[in-house]
Amino acid sequence: MNAFYWSQANSIVIPAGILRDIFFDNDRPQYLNFGTIGYVIGHEITHGFDNIGAQFDEIGNARNWWKNETKKHYNEKAQCMIKQYKDYDLQAGLKINGDLTLKENIGEFLAQKLFGLLGSARRGRLASSFHCFLIYSLLSGQWRNS
Ligand SMILES: [Zn+2]
Repeated sequence: MNAFYWSQANSIVIPAGILRDIFFDNDRPQYLNFGTIGYVIGHEITHGFDNIGAQFDEIGNARNWWKNETKKHYNEKAQCMIKQYKDYDLQAGLKINGDLTLKENIGEFLAQKLFGLLGSARRGRLASSFHCFLIYSLLSGQWRNS
């Protein structure tokens, strides 16, 4: 069971069944649960702009909605990302297939850009967790009490 982005509906799907283990624990502070699911939501939204999601428009039709110059730049960046990941060793003698991982690599890169404003994936996750904490705090009124 996993969360995913659904290109044909321009939607994300977050099955309630993932709300366990690392994604949800009733015995930990709620801001950690909101932060974790906030990261999942943010990650799935970015798949709308990965190499697959980018081929669909805002209502899920497969069509090129990009300006030619923007698409050209996007493809150049994607090729750089493929090359970069092909240089990484998964283990000795085993390289990452940058073509196969491109979708997730673009998703993580965009999540970092959106939530971390550059920097490491960890900083991006921390930033998204903090935003979720703020939302939770404002909605629950706990911000005023702390
Ligand atoms: Zn993903």
